[in-house]
Amino acid sequence: MVASYSEILEKVERGEAVVMTAQEVSWLVEAGETSRLSEVDVVTTATRAVMSGTYAVLSFPVAGPASFLRAKRIWINGIAAQVGPCPNENLGILDLMVFGTAHSRSQPNYGGGHLFRDLVERKKVQVDVETDDGRSLHAKVGLDEMPHARLFGSRHAFKNYSAFVNAGIEPVNTIFHSRGFAPHCREATFSGCGQINPLKNDPLLESIGIGTRVLMNGAEGFVLGTGTRSSKERPNLSGFADMHKMAAEFMGGFVTSAGPECICSWAVPIPVISKTILEEIARQDRDIDLPVNDVSCRTAIGQADYGDVWTDVDNEVEFEPENCSGCTSCLVEEACPMKAVSNETGTPNWNEALCFHCGLCVSVCPGGVFRCRLGAIRLKTAAGSVKSIPVALRQSDRLRAIRLAEELKRRIMDGSFKIAQPVERIS
Ligand code: SF4
Ligand code: SF4
Repeated sequence: MVASYSEILEKVERGEAVVMTAQEVSWLVEAGETSRLSEVDVVTTATRAVMSGTYAVLSFPVAGPASFLRAKRIWINGIAAQVGPCPNENLGILDLMVFGTAHSRSQPNYGGGHLFRDLVERKKVQVDVETDDGRSLHAKVGLDEMPHARLFGSRHAFKNYSAFVNAGIEPVNTIFHSRGFAPHCREATFSGCGQINPLKNDPLLESIGIGTRVLMNGAEGFVLGTGTRSSKERPNLSGFADMHKMAAEFMGGFVTSAGPECICSWAVPIPVISKTILEEIARQDRDIDLPVNDVSCRTAIGQADYGDVWTDVDNEVEFEPENCSGCTSCLVEEACPMKAVSNETGTPNWNEALCFHCGLCVSVCPGGVFRCRLGAIRLKTAAGSVKSIPVALRQSDRLRAIRLAEELKRRIMDGSFKIAQPVERIS
């Protein structure tokens, strides 16, 4: 029996609701206890991935009133901002947008995603302003000196995504790999958190709607609607949250061979209000299609499923520094897309808080310092053949997505997160 939205909200309010993470739901299904799913009132779902459609809207003072008429161009840590829309004439205050995919002119491999994390970590950032009368202004500013700092997703949390291979004969530099993508379909990369993804659990957008309260990078935010390129078959969401309340571990920059990209995380509560949602929460990774695209032409060349990449694999990388063979130059320090590994003293250091568990280090390190089973996609082509292609890089971090779903469950149960019924359904 599924209940109505208001019945579930009342149960949550009374502290009687059964709230489970999508991961816990999948353990029930694995144990053959599907009959118990009808007892579940709310499933907390999540995803963490490279999400290009991210931008920040910031407003903050850099000088006193009448210091300059208008800002013409602005850079933050070398990243060009979009000036406006408000001119703030003679106020000494900037209004601007920064794209998550923008690249710094002064710091190699530093982009909008890195800047957003630095701000949330309360690091001061360098602001350079060119005024409309040709003067230059410079200031160091931190997030707490920005009265307005909101992060927006113009296209986030896709109902899963795709895997990529390079079917060509030359390596390709792309946002879908952190090194040159090896040719001849020798390796695969992929995005998508599979069975725990929010829209996989509510594909018809019955419980998620305009005004749904979510966690974006750990901060409470709201769904605005669907995002760009959203379709019935592959919906995604747009939304926003206040950067002041975000947690750095859920966000950041991710370096690809086509430059830095932006990481974001979402956790979304799904009240089980329909038979479709009840059926969907039972669907496991093996039942979820993973289209495989050629990275050069972005066309599908076959099909795999999320079971290939999230079943019998490790969500987490293991670090065994005693295996280090002391290469002349540490290949992982160079290749890690999160800069989570340093090796200045001849001994590798791993910063777990920065690590995305993408797994790239596993194939890069000759000493076996990093271990992780990443799986292989079983590429099924239209001609009926099946080819196994090892995963070299994950652009989704299911480990922290699970942690965010757990955090959302905890907040719902202790009453600090209020599930909000949408103000309108998304058509
Ligand atoms: S690549 Fe691996 S084995 Fe070589 S120095 Fe770095 S950690 Fe050690
Ligand atoms: S899994 Fe390895 S390569 Fe990927 S972020 Fe972590 S340390 Fe870096």
